[in-house]
Amino acid sequence: MMQWTVRLEARTSAGEVTTTELVTFSRPGVVSTLAEIGLMLTETKTLLAKLQASMLCGQVAEYAAHHRACVECGVLRPLKDRRTRRLQTLFGTAEVEAPRFKVCRCRQPVPMTGVTVSPVCALLTARCTPELERVQAELGARTSFRDGARILEALLPVSPANHESLRTRTHAVALQLEAADRQAAAEVMAVRDEPAKAAAADANRPVVMLDGAYIRAVPGHQVRNFEAICGKVEREGQPTRRFALVRSVAEQPHALLRAALQGQGWREGEAVTAISDGDPALPALVRSATGSSVEHILDWFHLSMRVHHVEQVMGGLCAVEPPPLTPLDLAQIDVERLRHLLWNGDHERACEALGRIVSWAKDATVLNDPAMEARAKRLVARCTELRDYIESNEGALIDYGERYRAGKPISTSRAEGTVNQLVSARMNKRQQMRWSPRGAHRVLQVRAAVLDGRFGHQALQLAA
Ligand SMILES: [Zn+2]
Repeated sequence: MMQWTVRLEARTSAGEVTTTELVTFSRPGVVSTLAEIGLMLTETKTLLAKLQASMLCGQVAEYAAHHRACVECGVLRPLKDRRTRRLQTLFGTAEVEAPRFKVCRCRQPVPMTGVTVSPVCALLTARCTPELERVQAELGARTSFRDGARILEALLPVSPANHESLRTRTHAVALQLEAADRQAAAEVMAVRDEPAKAAAADANRPVVMLDGAYIRAVPGHQVRNFEAICGKVEREGQPTRRFALVRSVAEQPHALLRAALQGQGWREGEAVTAISDGDPALPALVRSATGSSVEHILDWFHLSMRVHHVEQVMGGLCAVEPPPLTPLDLAQIDVERLRHLLWNGDHERACEALGRIVSWAKDATVLNDPAMEARAKRLVARCTELRDYIESNEGALIDYGERYRAGKPISTSRAEGTVNQLVSARMNKRQQMRWSPRGAHRVLQVRAAVLDGRFGHQALQLAA
Protein backbone atom coordinates (compact mmCIF):
# COMPACT_ATOMS: atom_id res chain seq x y z
CA MET A 1 0.00 0.00 0.00
CA MET A 2 1.27 3.46 -0.91
CA GLN A 3 -0.12 6.57 0.77
CA TRP A 4 0.09 10.29 0.14
CA THR A 5 -0.94 12.80 2.77
CA VAL A 6 -1.44 16.44 1.87
CA ARG A 7 -0.76 18.88 4.70
CA LEU A 8 -1.44 22.59 4.46
CA GLU A 9 0.92 24.97 6.19
CA ALA A 10 -0.63 28.36 6.78
CA ARG A 11 1.42 31.35 7.93
CA THR A 12 -0.27 34.54 9.10
CA SER A 13 1.23 37.98 8.58
CA ALA A 14 2.28 37.85 12.25
CA GLY A 15 4.29 34.72 11.47
CA GLU A 16 2.06 32.20 13.26
CA VAL A 17 2.16 28.86 11.53
CA THR A 18 -0.54 26.20 11.67
CA THR A 19 -0.48 22.88 9.86
CA THR A 20 -3.68 21.11 8.85
CA GLU A 21 -3.95 17.66 7.40
CA LEU A 22 -6.18 17.85 4.34
CA VAL A 23 -6.43 14.41 2.73
CA THR A 24 -4.75 11.06 2.39
CA PHE A 25 -4.83 9.10 -0.85
CA SER A 26 -3.86 5.44 -0.99
CA ARG A 27 -3.09 2.98 -3.78
CA PRO A 28 -1.86 -0.59 -3.97
CA GLY A 29 1.88 -0.87 -3.28
CA VAL A 30 2.41 -2.04 -6.85
CA VAL A 31 -0.19 -0.82 -9.32
CA SER A 32 -1.63 -3.23 -11.83
CA THR A 33 -3.49 -0.94 -14.24
CA LEU A 34 -3.07 2.43 -15.88
CA ALA A 35 -6.19 3.71 -14.12
CA GLU A 36 -4.49 3.43 -10.72
CA ILE A 37 -1.73 5.88 -11.59
CA GLY A 38 -1.99 9.48 -10.48
CA LEU A 39 -4.76 11.64 -9.05
CA MET A 40 -8.42 10.87 -9.67
CA LEU A 41 -10.98 13.54 -10.37
CA THR A 42 -13.00 12.72 -7.23
CA GLU A 43 -9.85 12.94 -5.10
CA THR A 44 -8.97 16.25 -6.68
CA LYS A 45 -12.42 17.60 -5.90
CA THR A 46 -12.08 16.56 -2.25
CA LEU A 47 -8.62 18.09 -2.06
CA LEU A 48 -9.72 21.37 -3.62
CA ALA A 49 -12.80 21.64 -1.42
CA LYS A 50 -10.74 21.05 1.74
CA LEU A 51 -8.03 23.45 0.64
CA GLN A 52 -10.62 26.10 -0.12
CA ALA A 53 -12.45 25.64 3.20
CA SER A 54 -9.22 25.81 5.11
CA MET A 55 -7.92 28.90 3.32
CA LEU A 56 -11.21 30.72 3.52
CA CYS A 57 -11.79 30.02 7.22
CA GLY A 58 -8.25 31.12 8.02
CA GLN A 59 -8.57 34.38 6.10
CA VAL A 60 -11.97 35.20 7.54
CA ALA A 61 -10.81 34.43 11.08
CA GLU A 62 -7.84 36.80 10.60
CA TYR A 63 -10.17 39.42 9.26
CA ALA A 64 -12.58 39.10 12.20
CA ALA A 65 -9.70 39.22 14.71
CA HIS A 66 -8.28 42.33 13.05
CA HIS A 67 -11.63 44.11 13.12
CA ARG A 68 -12.41 43.21 16.72
CA ALA A 69 -10.35 46.09 18.07
CA CYS A 70 -12.33 49.28 18.73
CA VAL A 71 -11.34 51.99 16.26
CA GLU A 72 -11.58 54.62 19.03
CA CYS A 73 -9.59 53.10 21.88
CA GLY A 74 -8.01 49.95 20.40
CA VAL A 75 -9.45 47.69 23.12
CA LEU A 76 -10.93 44.38 21.93
CA ARG A 77 -14.70 44.58 21.84
CA PRO A 78 -16.65 42.00 23.86
CA LEU A 79 -17.88 38.96 21.96
CA LYS A 80 -21.66 38.73 21.72
CA ASP A 81 -21.96 35.37 19.96
CA ARG A 82 -20.58 33.26 17.13
CA ARG A 83 -22.68 32.77 14.04
CA THR A 84 -21.84 31.09 10.78
CA ARG A 85 -22.12 32.27 7.20
CA ARG A 86 -21.95 30.24 4.02
CA LEU A 87 -20.06 31.27 0.95
CA GLN A 88 -20.47 29.52 -2.40
CA THR A 89 -17.26 29.17 -4.37
CA LEU A 90 -15.95 27.32 -7.41
CA PHE A 91 -14.43 24.88 -4.92
CA GLY A 92 -17.44 24.12 -2.78
CA THR A 93 -19.57 25.93 -0.26
CA ALA A 94 -17.54 26.97 2.75
CA GLU A 95 -18.99 27.65 6.16
CA VAL A 96 -17.16 30.40 7.99
CA GLU A 97 -17.45 31.81 11.49
CA ALA A 98 -18.90 35.27 11.72
CA PRO A 99 -18.50 36.48 15.31
CA ARG A 100 -20.63 39.41 16.48
CA PHE A 101 -19.08 41.95 18.80
CA LYS A 102 -20.76 44.29 21.27
CA VAL A 103 -20.22 48.01 21.10
CA CYS A 104 -17.04 49.03 22.94
CA ARG A 105 -17.34 50.20 26.54
CA CYS A 106 -15.66 53.49 25.60
CA ARG A 107 -18.74 54.35 23.56
CA GLN A 108 -21.11 53.82 26.50
CA PRO A 109 -23.27 54.97 28.21
CA VAL A 110 -24.72 55.87 24.81
CA PRO A 111 -27.96 53.85 24.72
CA MET A 112 -26.69 51.16 22.44
CA THR A 113 -27.42 48.02 24.41
CA GLY A 114 -28.25 45.21 22.02
CA VAL A 115 -26.38 46.82 19.16
CA THR A 116 -23.78 44.47 17.69
CA VAL A 117 -21.22 44.60 14.91
CA SER A 118 -20.38 41.73 12.55
CA PRO A 119 -17.29 42.56 10.47
CA VAL A 120 -17.47 39.27 8.57
CA CYS A 121 -21.01 40.03 7.39
CA ALA A 122 -19.70 43.35 6.07
CA LEU A 123 -16.96 41.48 4.16
CA LEU A 124 -19.23 38.84 2.64
CA THR A 125 -21.31 41.17 0.52
CA ALA A 126 -22.64 38.36 -1.67
CA ARG A 127 -23.56 34.71 -1.29
CA CYS A 128 -20.91 33.66 -3.77
CA THR A 129 -17.43 34.67 -4.82
CA PRO A 130 -17.17 36.99 -7.86
CA GLU A 131 -15.17 34.28 -9.61
CA LEU A 132 -17.93 31.70 -9.25
CA GLU A 133 -20.47 34.22 -10.50
CA ARG A 134 -18.32 35.05 -13.52
CA VAL A 135 -17.63 31.42 -14.46
CA GLN A 136 -21.30 30.45 -14.08
CA ALA A 137 -22.41 33.44 -16.14
CA GLU A 138 -19.87 32.74 -18.87
CA LEU A 139 -21.00 29.11 -19.13
CA GLY A 140 -24.63 30.22 -19.06
CA ALA A 141 -23.94 32.56 -21.96
CA ARG A 142 -21.99 30.00 -23.98
CA THR A 143 -24.21 26.97 -23.59
CA SER A 144 -27.55 25.95 -22.15
CA PHE A 145 -27.92 26.40 -18.40
CA ARG A 146 -28.27 22.64 -17.97
CA ASP A 147 -25.17 21.78 -19.99
CA GLY A 148 -23.22 24.51 -18.23
CA ALA A 149 -24.20 23.11 -14.84
CA ARG A 150 -23.16 19.60 -15.95
CA ILE A 151 -19.75 20.81 -17.11
CA LEU A 152 -19.11 22.58 -13.83
CA GLU A 153 -20.26 19.65 -11.76
CA ALA A 154 -18.16 17.22 -13.75
CA LEU A 155 -14.93 19.12 -13.20
CA LEU A 156 -15.12 21.05 -9.95
CA PRO A 157 -16.45 20.59 -6.42
CA VAL A 158 -18.61 23.67 -7.07
CA SER A 159 -21.90 23.93 -5.24
CA PRO A 160 -24.64 24.47 -6.06
CA ALA A 161 -24.12 23.31 -9.64
CA ASN A 162 -27.73 23.37 -10.79
CA HIS A 163 -29.07 25.14 -13.85
CA GLU A 164 -31.20 27.59 -11.84
CA SER A 165 -28.09 28.90 -10.18
CA LEU A 166 -26.44 29.36 -13.60
CA ARG A 167 -29.47 31.26 -14.81
CA THR A 168 -29.56 33.47 -11.72
CA ARG A 169 -25.85 34.30 -12.02
CA THR A 170 -26.08 34.99 -15.77
CA HIS A 171 -28.95 37.39 -15.14
CA ALA A 172 -27.10 39.07 -12.28
CA VAL A 173 -23.99 39.60 -14.41
CA ALA A 174 -26.12 40.90 -17.30
CA LEU A 175 -27.55 43.56 -15.00
CA GLN A 176 -24.02 44.57 -13.98
CA LEU A 177 -22.94 44.79 -17.63
CA GLU A 178 -25.99 46.86 -18.55
CA ALA A 179 -25.41 49.21 -15.64
CA ALA A 180 -21.77 49.62 -16.72
CA ASP A 181 -22.94 50.35 -20.28
CA ARG A 182 -25.40 52.99 -19.08
CA GLN A 183 -22.59 54.61 -17.14
CA ALA A 184 -20.22 54.48 -20.14
CA ALA A 185 -22.98 55.97 -22.31
CA ALA A 186 -23.42 58.85 -19.88
CA GLU A 187 -19.67 59.52 -19.86
CA VAL A 188 -19.20 59.91 -23.62
CA MET A 189 -16.93 62.89 -24.20
CA ALA A 190 -17.97 65.67 -26.52
CA VAL A 191 -15.79 66.37 -29.53
CA ARG A 192 -13.60 69.41 -29.09
CA ASP A 193 -12.77 71.90 -31.78
CA GLU A 194 -9.61 70.40 -33.23
CA PRO A 195 -9.96 70.43 -37.03
CA ALA A 196 -7.05 68.05 -37.71
CA LYS A 197 -8.30 65.48 -35.22
CA ALA A 198 -11.88 65.87 -36.38
CA ALA A 199 -10.90 65.19 -40.00
CA ALA A 200 -8.92 62.11 -38.95
CA ALA A 201 -11.86 60.86 -36.88
CA ASP A 202 -14.22 61.44 -39.81
CA ALA A 203 -12.01 59.51 -42.22
CA ASN A 204 -12.04 56.61 -39.76
CA ARG A 205 -15.62 56.91 -38.56
CA PRO A 206 -17.17 53.98 -36.72
CA VAL A 207 -19.43 51.72 -38.77
CA VAL A 208 -22.42 50.24 -36.99
CA MET A 209 -23.84 47.13 -38.64
CA LEU A 210 -27.27 46.10 -37.45
CA ASP A 211 -29.54 43.21 -38.10
CA GLY A 212 -32.59 41.69 -36.52
CA ALA A 213 -33.07 38.11 -35.39
CA TYR A 214 -36.19 36.30 -34.28
CA ILE A 215 -36.31 34.25 -31.12
CA ARG A 216 -39.07 31.82 -30.19
CA ALA A 217 -41.07 33.04 -27.23
CA VAL A 218 -42.08 30.94 -24.25
CA PRO A 219 -45.67 29.67 -24.36
CA GLY A 220 -48.13 32.09 -22.84
CA HIS A 221 -46.24 35.07 -24.19
CA GLN A 222 -48.34 37.44 -26.31
CA VAL A 223 -46.33 36.71 -29.44
CA ARG A 224 -44.89 33.58 -30.97
CA ASN A 225 -41.58 35.25 -31.81
CA PHE A 226 -39.88 38.40 -30.68
CA GLU A 227 -37.04 40.33 -32.21
CA ALA A 228 -33.51 40.84 -30.95
CA ILE A 229 -31.39 43.56 -32.52
CA CYS A 230 -27.83 42.42 -32.99
CA GLY A 231 -24.85 44.11 -34.43
CA LYS A 232 -21.33 45.21 -34.15
CA VAL A 233 -19.37 48.40 -34.21
CA GLU A 234 -16.23 48.38 -36.29
CA ARG A 235 -13.53 50.98 -36.43
CA GLU A 236 -10.09 50.60 -37.90
CA GLY A 237 -7.49 49.97 -35.25
CA GLN A 238 -10.06 48.88 -32.65
CA PRO A 239 -11.23 45.42 -31.68
CA THR A 240 -14.77 44.77 -32.91
CA ARG A 241 -17.44 45.43 -30.34
CA ARG A 242 -20.67 43.39 -30.43
CA PHE A 243 -23.98 44.39 -28.95
CA ALA A 244 -27.42 42.87 -28.77
CA LEU A 245 -30.70 43.81 -27.20
CA VAL A 246 -34.37 43.04 -26.99
CA ARG A 247 -35.84 46.47 -27.30
CA SER A 248 -39.00 45.90 -25.26
CA VAL A 249 -37.07 44.93 -22.13
CA ALA A 250 -33.80 46.87 -22.42
CA GLU A 251 -33.83 49.64 -19.86
CA GLN A 252 -32.11 52.10 -22.24
CA PRO A 253 -31.65 50.46 -25.66
CA HIS A 254 -29.75 53.41 -27.11
CA ALA A 255 -27.34 53.44 -24.15
CA LEU A 256 -26.11 49.93 -25.00
CA LEU A 257 -25.20 51.04 -28.52
CA ARG A 258 -23.77 54.32 -27.26
CA ALA A 259 -21.53 52.41 -24.85
CA ALA A 260 -20.36 50.21 -27.74
CA LEU A 261 -19.49 53.36 -29.72
CA GLN A 262 -17.72 54.85 -26.73
CA GLY A 263 -15.69 51.65 -26.49
CA GLN A 264 -14.45 52.42 -30.02
CA GLY A 265 -13.25 55.86 -29.05
CA TRP A 266 -16.25 57.66 -30.50
CA ARG A 267 -17.00 61.14 -29.17
CA GLU A 268 -20.27 63.04 -29.16
CA GLY A 269 -20.59 65.01 -32.39
CA GLU A 270 -18.48 62.68 -34.55
CA ALA A 271 -20.14 61.12 -37.57
CA VAL A 272 -21.22 57.49 -37.59
CA THR A 273 -22.09 55.23 -40.52
CA ALA A 274 -24.91 52.71 -40.09
CA ILE A 275 -25.46 49.75 -42.40
CA SER A 276 -28.70 47.83 -42.11
CA ASP A 277 -31.56 46.37 -44.11
CA GLY A 278 -34.69 48.34 -44.92
CA ASP A 279 -36.09 48.37 -41.37
CA PRO A 280 -36.21 52.10 -40.42
CA ALA A 281 -36.10 51.23 -36.71
CA LEU A 282 -32.45 50.21 -36.99
CA PRO A 283 -30.91 53.49 -38.21
CA ALA A 284 -33.32 55.25 -35.83
CA LEU A 285 -31.69 53.40 -32.94
CA VAL A 286 -28.26 54.59 -34.08
CA ARG A 287 -29.56 58.16 -34.32
CA SER A 288 -30.92 58.06 -30.80
CA ALA A 289 -27.63 56.61 -29.56
CA THR A 290 -25.46 59.27 -31.18
CA GLY A 291 -27.88 62.15 -30.78
CA SER A 292 -26.84 63.42 -34.19
CA SER A 293 -27.16 62.67 -37.87
CA VAL A 294 -26.12 59.29 -39.14
CA GLU A 295 -25.01 58.27 -42.61
CA HIS A 296 -27.30 55.34 -43.35
CA ILE A 297 -26.34 52.81 -46.03
CA LEU A 298 -28.73 50.14 -47.22
CA ASP A 299 -27.05 46.81 -46.79
CA TRP A 300 -25.80 45.52 -50.15
CA PHE A 301 -26.53 41.94 -49.16
CA HIS A 302 -30.25 42.56 -48.61
CA LEU A 303 -30.50 44.54 -51.86
CA SER A 304 -28.55 41.91 -53.77
CA MET A 305 -30.84 39.15 -52.46
CA ARG A 306 -33.85 40.89 -54.00
CA VAL A 307 -32.03 41.28 -57.33
CA HIS A 308 -31.25 37.60 -57.09
CA HIS A 309 -34.97 36.79 -56.77
CA VAL A 310 -35.67 38.65 -60.02
CA GLU A 311 -32.78 36.87 -61.75
CA GLN A 312 -34.02 33.50 -60.54
CA VAL A 313 -37.56 33.96 -61.91
CA MET A 314 -36.13 35.23 -65.18
CA GLY A 315 -33.93 32.13 -65.37
CA GLY A 316 -37.06 30.01 -64.91
CA LEU A 317 -38.81 31.83 -67.74
CA CYS A 318 -35.89 31.30 -70.11
CA ALA A 319 -35.91 27.60 -69.24
CA VAL A 320 -39.53 27.35 -70.40
CA GLU A 321 -38.81 29.01 -73.68
CA PRO A 322 -35.22 29.55 -74.81
CA PRO A 323 -35.19 33.20 -75.90
CA PRO A 324 -35.16 33.96 -79.62
CA LEU A 325 -34.94 37.66 -80.44
CA THR A 326 -38.22 38.46 -78.74
CA PRO A 327 -39.33 40.79 -75.97
CA LEU A 328 -38.26 38.04 -73.55
CA ASP A 329 -34.71 38.46 -74.77
CA LEU A 330 -34.88 42.22 -74.23
CA ALA A 331 -36.29 41.76 -70.73
CA GLN A 332 -33.45 39.39 -69.96
CA ILE A 333 -30.90 42.01 -70.95
CA ASP A 334 -32.56 44.43 -68.54
CA VAL A 335 -32.51 41.83 -65.75
CA GLU A 336 -28.83 41.24 -66.37
CA ARG A 337 -28.08 44.97 -66.03
CA LEU A 338 -29.94 45.40 -62.71
CA ARG A 339 -27.15 44.23 -60.44
CA HIS A 340 -24.55 46.31 -62.25
CA LEU A 341 -26.72 49.47 -62.12
CA LEU A 342 -27.46 49.14 -58.41
CA TRP A 343 -23.84 48.29 -57.59
CA ASN A 344 -22.79 51.57 -59.19
CA GLY A 345 -25.43 53.62 -57.41
CA ASP A 346 -27.56 54.14 -60.52
CA HIS A 347 -30.88 53.23 -58.93
CA GLU A 348 -32.89 55.55 -61.18
CA ARG A 349 -31.91 53.60 -64.28
CA ALA A 350 -32.44 50.38 -62.34
CA CYS A 351 -36.03 51.48 -61.66
CA GLU A 352 -36.53 52.32 -65.36
CA ALA A 353 -35.26 48.86 -66.30
CA LEU A 354 -37.61 47.32 -63.75
CA GLY A 355 -40.50 49.26 -65.31
CA ARG A 356 -39.69 47.83 -68.74
CA ILE A 357 -39.39 44.29 -67.39
CA VAL A 358 -42.76 44.61 -65.64
CA SER A 359 -44.56 45.96 -68.71
CA TRP A 360 -43.11 43.16 -70.83
CA ALA A 361 -44.01 40.53 -68.23
CA LYS A 362 -47.58 41.88 -68.06
CA ASP A 363 -47.86 41.42 -71.82
CA ALA A 364 -46.54 37.89 -71.42
CA THR A 365 -49.24 37.00 -68.89
CA VAL A 366 -51.89 37.29 -71.61
CA LEU A 367 -50.14 34.68 -73.77
CA ASN A 368 -51.90 31.38 -73.98
CA ASP A 369 -49.31 29.43 -72.10
CA PRO A 370 -50.22 28.68 -68.46
CA ALA A 371 -46.63 27.77 -67.40
CA MET A 372 -45.36 31.00 -68.94
CA GLU A 373 -48.18 33.00 -67.43
CA ALA A 374 -47.51 31.81 -63.87
CA ARG A 375 -43.81 32.60 -64.18
CA ALA A 376 -44.45 36.00 -65.74
CA LYS A 377 -46.75 36.86 -62.84
CA ARG A 378 -44.03 35.87 -60.41
CA LEU A 379 -41.58 38.08 -62.30
CA VAL A 380 -43.96 41.05 -61.96
CA ALA A 381 -44.24 40.38 -58.22
CA ARG A 382 -40.47 40.13 -57.69
CA CYS A 383 -39.77 43.25 -59.77
CA THR A 384 -42.43 45.24 -57.90
CA GLU A 385 -40.94 44.09 -54.63
CA LEU A 386 -37.46 45.22 -55.64
CA ARG A 387 -38.74 48.55 -56.92
CA ASP A 388 -40.65 49.26 -53.70
CA TYR A 389 -37.56 48.33 -51.73
CA ILE A 390 -35.40 50.70 -53.78
CA GLU A 391 -37.91 53.53 -53.50
CA SER A 392 -38.47 53.22 -49.77
CA ASN A 393 -34.70 53.20 -49.15
CA GLU A 394 -33.72 55.81 -51.69
CA GLY A 395 -31.78 57.94 -49.23
CA ALA A 396 -29.65 54.99 -48.18
CA LEU A 397 -28.52 53.85 -51.65
CA ILE A 398 -24.93 54.62 -52.53
CA ASP A 399 -22.32 53.81 -55.11
CA TYR A 400 -21.44 50.44 -53.61
CA GLY A 401 -18.66 49.80 -56.10
CA GLU A 402 -16.85 52.98 -55.17
CA ARG A 403 -17.16 52.33 -51.44
CA TYR A 404 -16.09 48.73 -51.91
CA ARG A 405 -13.01 49.75 -53.87
CA ALA A 406 -12.15 52.17 -51.05
CA GLY A 407 -12.03 49.14 -48.76
CA LYS A 408 -15.03 50.19 -46.70
CA PRO A 409 -17.78 47.83 -45.55
CA ILE A 410 -20.94 47.77 -47.65
CA SER A 411 -22.80 44.91 -46.10
CA THR A 412 -24.04 43.65 -42.79
CA SER A 413 -23.07 40.14 -43.84
CA ARG A 414 -20.49 40.44 -41.11
CA ALA A 415 -23.24 41.57 -38.76
CA GLU A 416 -25.20 38.50 -39.77
CA GLY A 417 -22.25 36.48 -38.61
CA THR A 418 -22.81 38.28 -35.33
CA VAL A 419 -26.46 37.26 -35.33
CA ASN A 420 -25.35 33.67 -35.76
CA GLN A 421 -22.78 33.94 -33.03
CA LEU A 422 -25.01 35.77 -30.61
CA VAL A 423 -28.46 34.39 -31.23
CA SER A 424 -28.58 31.31 -33.42
CA ALA A 425 -25.80 29.41 -31.72
CA ARG A 426 -27.29 29.86 -28.26
CA MET A 427 -31.01 30.55 -28.71
CA ASN A 428 -32.18 28.48 -31.66
CA LYS A 429 -29.72 25.65 -31.44
CA ARG A 430 -32.51 23.30 -30.55
CA GLN A 431 -36.00 23.86 -31.86
CA GLN A 432 -37.60 23.48 -28.45
CA MET A 433 -35.58 26.32 -26.96
CA ARG A 434 -37.98 29.08 -26.03
CA TRP A 435 -37.21 32.32 -24.31
CA SER A 436 -38.78 35.16 -22.42
CA PRO A 437 -37.71 38.51 -23.88
CA ARG A 438 -36.06 39.41 -20.57
CA GLY A 439 -34.17 36.12 -20.31
CA ALA A 440 -32.97 36.37 -23.90
CA HIS A 441 -31.94 40.00 -23.49
CA ARG A 442 -29.84 39.22 -20.43
CA VAL A 443 -28.13 36.18 -21.91
CA LEU A 444 -27.31 38.30 -24.98
CA GLN A 445 -25.61 40.95 -22.82
CA VAL A 446 -23.28 38.37 -21.31
CA ARG A 447 -22.78 36.51 -24.59
CA ALA A 448 -21.74 39.67 -26.45
CA ALA A 449 -19.26 40.50 -23.69
CA VAL A 450 -17.88 36.95 -23.67
CA LEU A 451 -17.43 36.85 -27.46
CA ASP A 452 -15.74 40.26 -27.44
CA GLY A 453 -13.34 39.19 -24.74
CA ARG A 454 -14.68 42.01 -22.57
CA PHE A 455 -15.57 39.50 -19.91
CA GLY A 456 -12.39 39.72 -17.88
CA HIS A 457 -12.19 39.95 -14.12
CA GLN A 458 -11.45 43.64 -14.46
CA ALA A 459 -14.62 44.44 -16.37
CA LEU A 460 -16.73 42.90 -13.67
CA GLN A 461 -14.95 44.72 -10.91
CA LEU A 462 -15.67 47.95 -12.71
CA ALA A 463 -19.30 47.01 -13.02
CA ALA A 464 -19.70 45.88 -9.42
ZN1 LIG B 1 -13.37 51.68 22.43
